[in-house]
Formats: sequence, C-alpha cells, structure tokens
Amino acid sequence: MTVEKLEFKTEVKELLDLMIHSLYSHKEVFLRELVSNASDAIDRAHYESLTNSDISEGEKGWKIRITVDKDAGTLMVSDNGIGMSKDEAIEALGTIAHSGTKEFLAALQSKEIKDNPELIGQFGVGFYSSFMVADTITVISRKAGQKDKRGVKWESTGDGVFTVEEIEKEGKGTDVILHLKEEENKYLQEWEIRNIIRKYSDFIEHPVVMDVERERESVLDKTKKVKVKEEETLNSMKAIWLKDKSEISEEEYNEFYKHISHDFSNPAKVIHYKAEGTSEFHALLYIPSVAPINILYRDYKIGPMLYVKRVQIMDHCEELITPYLRFIKGVVDSSDLPLNISREILQNNRQVEIIKKNITKKALDTIGDMRKDEYEKYLKFYEEFGRVLKEGVHFDFERRETIADLLLFPSTHTEEGKFRTFQEYVDNMREGQKDIYYTTGSSLKEALQSPYLEAFKERGYEVLIMLDDIDDFIMAGFEYKGKKMKSVIKGDIAFDKAEQADKEKAKKKYEKLLEFIKDRLKDDVKDVRLSGRLTDSACCLVADEGDIDPQMEKLLKAMGQDVPQSKRILEINPDHPLFASMNAIFEKDRGNDTLQEYIMLLYGQALLLEGSKPKDPAAFARAVAKLMVENLR
Ligand code: ADP
Repeated sequence: MTVEKLEFKTEVKELLDLMIHSLYSHKEVFLRELVSNASDAIDRAHYESLTNSDISEGEKGWKIRITVDKDAGTLMVSDNGIGMSKDEAIEALGTIAHSGTKEFLAALQSKEIKDNPELIGQFGVGFYSSFMVADTITVISRKAGQKDKRGVKWESTGDGVFTVEEIEKEGKGTDVILHLKEEENKYLQEWEIRNIIRKYSDFIEHPVVMDVERERESVLDKTKKVKVKEEETLNSMKAIWLKDKSEISEEEYNEFYKHISHDFSNPAKVIHYKAEGTSEFHALLYIPSVAPINILYRDYKIGPMLYVKRVQIMDHCEELITPYLRFIKGVVDSSDLPLNISREILQNNRQVEIIKKNITKKALDTIGDMRKDEYEKYLKFYEEFGRVLKEGVHFDFERRETIADLLLFPSTHTEEGKFRTFQEYVDNMREGQKDIYYTTGSSLKEALQSPYLEAFKERGYEVLIMLDDIDDFIMAGFEYKGKKMKSVIKGDIAFDKAEQADKEKAKKKYEKLLEFIKDRLKDDVKDVRLSGRLTDSACCLVADEGDIDPQMEKLLKAMGQDVPQSKRILEINPDHPLFASMNAIFEKDRGNDTLQEYIMLLYGQALLLEGSKPKDPAAFARAVAKLMVENLR
C-alpha cells in the first residue's frame, strides 16, 4: 500500500504550533475532546442506522473504549461510530472545519488568544488538542455501512505534515491512538483517566469503558486471589437534562456547560425546565458569563443541541433560538418531533415554533430577573451581550418593549458607571416633554461634550448616550410606551411652543440671509436653517430626520457597503452675536468680501465640530489668522 504524505492547511499549522508551544493549562481536556468526537461519531451512526439497514450498533452495543498500553506508552480511544473514509480523514483531520478561516486566523493571532490560549477550544478544534500530550497520533478508521474492510490509517507528529494510507480494519468506527510524550505518561494511569472522564464526560450517553485490572478470588482455589481484567464503565451516562433539578449539583451543571460550550468559565445563569402541554420537551440552557470571541462572526453557530427522545439530531439547531439570544447554549430534548427530522421540516414545524417561543420567553424572564435581583451580575452580562440582545428591539416586534426594558444606557444625567433604563428615563421626563432624546457616539466622553447637546443640557433635558454601532438602526422608528425616539443629532429641534414661535420670528428676520448662505454653500449642504439645539456654539451640521446617522455610516462602510454621501444641514444659532453682525453687513452690502469669508468660516467650524476637516484647511487657517490680527489691532 502506498503511503501519501500531505501538508496541513496553514491554519492547522498555526493552531498546532500554538497548541504545542503555548498551552500549558487544562491539558487533560484532550481526552474530553476525543471522547466527545467518539460520541458524536456514534450519534451520527445511530442516526443513520434509523434509515440505513447496513449500519447497526452490533452485538456489543454502541461503545467508546479506552485502552492503555503502558509498555508502548499509548492511550487509545476507540468507537464503533460513523468512521471516516480516506478522503474524509484528509479533510477532517487536515483542515479546520471552519468557514471563516480568515477570521479564525486573525483570532489566533489576537492578544486575547495569546493571553488565554484555552479560548481556542471555542472554535471547535478539539482533535488537535491531543498534540498537547502526544508526540505522534495515529488514527485508524473505517466508514460505517461499507461492506469491505477498507480503512484508512492517518498519522502525524504535528510538525506540518501527515501521512495517510489504506489499510484493513475489522469493524466500523475509529481508533485514535496517542503516543504520549514521556512527561505526560500520567494519562496512562487508571485513576487519572477515570477522574477526567467523570469530570468532563460523565453525561455522555454512550458507555465509556476501559479494561481494569482487579484482584478476584480464584475459581479453582477460593483461598487464592488472582488478577483479572474486567471491563468497567467509567461514566454514569445519565443525560443531565433529563434529571430532576434537585439531583444536580451546581458543579455538574457547570461541567456540562463547559463540555458543550468549550468555555472555561462558569455560566452566568442556568435555565433548566421541563415543558408539558402543547409541546413536551426538556430544556437545559445556559447564559454564558463571557462572550465567545467569535459571536459577531458570520460563521458563529447559533442554537442549542437538538435531541429527540435522547437521540442527538444536531449540534446547533438555529430554528430553536432567535438570533438576538444567540449567546444561549444548551440542549433541547423533544418528545414530539420525529426522529428523522430534516432542516426543511424544522423550518416550518409548529412544534419547533412552540419550543422557540417558550425558550425565548424563559430566557427573557431569566434575564429580566437577573436585572432586578442580581444587578451587579446583570451589568457584567450586559457588557458582554447587551449589543446582541438589543437587536431584538428591532427584530422581535412582539417583544420589543420587553427587550427595551432590559437595555441600559449612560445619559447626560447619570454618574460615571451608572445607567438608565427607558422606564427610568420616562419617569424622569420633564413636563411637556414628548420624545425620548438620544445621541449616538463612539465614546462616552466625546458624546457628552458634543455641541449638539448644548440646548438639552441647558434646559435640563436628559439625553441617553448610545455607543453601539447598531444603535441608530435599532432606535429609528422605535417607540417606548408611546414615546418616540428622537436623535438629538438629526432633524429639527424645538422644545416648546414659545421657543417655536421665537424661532419663527427669527426665521422671518433672517430669511434673506439664510437663503444667501444656502446659495453660497449649495454644493456642500442640503439646507441652512436656524437651530433649536445650540446655545454656545455658533453653528453645527446635522443629518436630516430620515438620513443615516454618522455612527451607522461608519458601520456600513466597515461592512464594505457603498454608502451614498448624504448632504448635511447647516444649523445656525440665531442667538449668537456673530449672526446678528453678519446680518447687519448683509443688509448693507451683500457683495462684501468679509461676508463671503465668514460664510466659509462658519461652515469650516461646523465641520470641525463634527470631527471633520474644513474643506480648504489652508484657506480656513489664513482667514482665522487674519481675524486674529484684526482683533489685536
Ligand atoms: P469538531 O469535532 O469540533 O468538528 P475536531 O477537530 O475535534 O473538531 O474534529 C474534526 C473532525 O474530525 C470532526 O468534525 C469529524 O468529522 C472528524 N472526527 C474526529 N474524530 C472522529 C471520530 N472518532 N469518528 C469520526 N470522525 C471523527
């Protein structure tokens, strides 16, 4: 038989390098990963066996076997699951099953991973973790359902290449043989293996067995003891989600969470319940305490594991969770769904809809309770997942107010580190105030200093500060308890009727000048009008009510979208003395050079205030210098 030598894909090389050279803690998780892969392989074979009579569990039943050879220094994990063909082995064990490889590579090099290498577990790179303890790994596999004995032998020392060759193998399934490094031979000890299995894999539903040596009475001579090998099952195999709450310790809950999420920290909340009635199912769900680094990536896998009557159907069932709760992990085990359920059926299934609705409600209730009863914990949760949760205000019409009640914002009225809810905002609204005022920005400090807030601050109106890129998109069109959201950086502002009337009067007075300025700046701005939002500054640029907000524009650009340049509106403070002086010159001589220069300066200032550059910085600087000189004379 020929032996083929192949190279790992770049990302695997990088990953292996990291595994071998920088991961020193939690090395024992390699066994959890191998057992979990074996269990998945059995689940898949079991699932296929329902419709393919060429596949069966065999006489001894589905089983994961651990075999130790102390002399050879090897540890083997075998299963009688689905197995791999040669091509599948090359693909599965030579690449990373990851659609966002570029993002994955970026994450590998990130500081976050460098500081906490164990986070890579989240990317589902389980198999390779064995290279932390083994210098050579041999995998022998045969595909289930295939009638001949054709199998594959895959081998690697983790240094960039691997070999594959065709061999014969007795039964279906996979043997993963680790040639342990000298210093890692503790993993050959029975008690060590037993502990790891109990800690990480107790709830695997298939038996994990190992031959152990025990002293027994000799059958021939009862006075003598002899050493015998006995097969022992190391795990309890009880599906934890089917157990009663009272039977499960916090530690068991946490271990199970770590098993399914590849997270190393404990979850923030456990949601475990049994639903009866229109739909019967068990759900064991978790709200993590730390966001997985890939949660905002395209290929982040959404949804809990789906089981039907204890048979695993899929790893991530997207149809069971709404995207704004995508941080939730766990298991749903349904008694009503058919075992051979396909993606298509899932998408239009009433039972699935019911489960999803039920889970959504439970999760939102749990999050709501956390806000009420465990505020400190909630703040941490919110910091990690608020950005995701918030999407629900836009996408879940039915529950938008419930979700809005979970949101927190700093405001012009809060102390540092403190937040407002919408309810608190509304309760503190000023007499006659109709709308909820908010501003977007990229940092709290910058947003608080913005000239757009001047009039609001002066009149004592509270403004919520929103710092997430998607905020404007989420808030546009949203109403909380009948109160509209109003961006202070967009559209026209007038606080009350009296102010409105003053503005009308000023408008009449300055109408001609406004027209004149508008004509001069017609290539740059959409409109020139009097402002209701300024008190100290002379002017500012604002977006029109329906236009996209500057934060949103940044987000869209970052996503590679073409954003049409929308023209701004120049707002002028009618109470600023500058404006009265300009009007005086205008009424005398509209061709006056100084007037032209002032218009340019006005527009330049407005650009500076919104963080842009004046159109012609050199001309702007010259004009300012000239004014300074004149002032000093
Ligand atoms: P993950 O299990 O998260 O996909 P791994 O790196 O652990 O990532 O495994 C990569 C792939 O190798 C698996 O998706 C599976 O296709 C294959 N594989 C690993 N172990 C086994 C096994 N015991 N039986 C069959 N296939 C396996």
